[in-house]
Amino acid sequence: MQVLVINCGSSSLKFQLIDSDSENVLAKGLCERIGIDGSSITYKTDEKVTREIDMPTHNEAIKAVIDMLTDDEVGVVSDMSQIKAVGHRVVHGGEFFSKPILLDEDALDKIEKCNDLAPLHNPANIIGIRACMEIMPGIPNVGVFDTAFHQTMEEASFLYAIPRKFYDKYKIRRYGFHGTSHSFVSKRIAEIIGKPYDELKTIVCHLGNGASICAVENGKSVDTSMGLTPLSGVVMGTRSGDIDPGILEVIANFEDVDVKEVTRILNKESGVYGLSKNSSDFRDINKAINEGDEKAIQTMDVYVRAIVRFIGAYVAVMNGVDAIVFTAGVGENNPNIRKMVCDYLSYLGITIDDQANKICGEEVKLSTDSSKVDVYVVPTNEELAICQETVKLVEN
Ligand code: ADP
Repeated sequence: MQVLVINCGSSSLKFQLIDSDSENVLAKGLCERIGIDGSSITYKTDEKVTREIDMPTHNEAIKAVIDMLTDDEVGVVSDMSQIKAVGHRVVHGGEFFSKPILLDEDALDKIEKCNDLAPLHNPANIIGIRACMEIMPGIPNVGVFDTAFHQTMEEASFLYAIPRKFYDKYKIRRYGFHGTSHSFVSKRIAEIIGKPYDELKTIVCHLGNGASICAVENGKSVDTSMGLTPLSGVVMGTRSGDIDPGILEVIANFEDVDVKEVTRILNKESGVYGLSKNSSDFRDINKAINEGDEKAIQTMDVYVRAIVRFIGAYVAVMNGVDAIVFTAGVGENNPNIRKMVCDYLSYLGITIDDQANKICGEEVKLSTDSSKVDVYVVPTNEELAICQETVKLVEN
């Protein structure tokens, strides 16, 4: 079955057309500057094509995607009817959704109710869904939520110790994100190790620009580092991760700015970028470290320590761990960070093979045979996961 996977942002739209049987990506691309002058679509099969197309709204963007996919020269399908379903990444499903669903008006209503919890993402996701419903009538749309996998967390994990009315009235609680990735990677590691998914204790370290750690026990997310918003947890590219909440008022007073501005600083100007005064990209940080840049070295130390704190906490929460898995841009491609994290964990009897750790961007076992805990790299593939979930629902 051919499935169109859509990840819709406020002014951008990423897409992949995936053949679910072979799991091959037939075409992928990106619409940029939707609603802004100079919008364009970049489309990749064997070659890359960029076309400037006027896209005042997401409807034109979806039309441009369909036109490219069915184009005489660069298209990969003869007509739209070959696309059997659309899978949408939806960031926040609140407490409404604990698994992917077929999207209808009722579901859209519920997603809209979560807008306040993800104001940058959910409204854009809804626009993308509506555009597909309009441009591709009759084709089923499936919503796959970043938060859904974590709905198995118990109160002990998801309640914040703030007045209960904030949960009762506004549903302020830990939700967690990257659920599609944590679910995909934790299932895959069970296959690799050859143990039943529902008998395994795994810690998944999704380390990309955004980063989160998840404790998966017996096939369920039991704890995760991101919270109500994707700002909390480990140190990220430009996000601070966990800080003392008292810092907000102190910065606001010193700099004479409001909470909104402090939150923007914590989201956009902090993390690896803020601390290194250099870059949010670990390739630049590695280079700076090799040149002896003290700030870059410190940034790396702070980044690694934050990850280790969560791994330690989750070993305690699950009372043990069978496997630790690294994934996403940094997790898949940065041997230094993997080595530094694992060196901290020798108390758990973890030893890694330095040769294996040189391998990047592919599935690899890092731990030695004598290691008490298995350590792996498993590349994440959120689009494929969304495609698989979509097929499962549509076929049923
Ligand atoms: P996003 O959260 O935006 O999807 P990614 O998962 O692509 O982010 O991760 C981005 C990070 O991954 C950057 O810090 C970058 O340094 C690192 N990264 C990505 N690809 C590579 C690579 N080939 N080599 C080294 N680092 C990489």
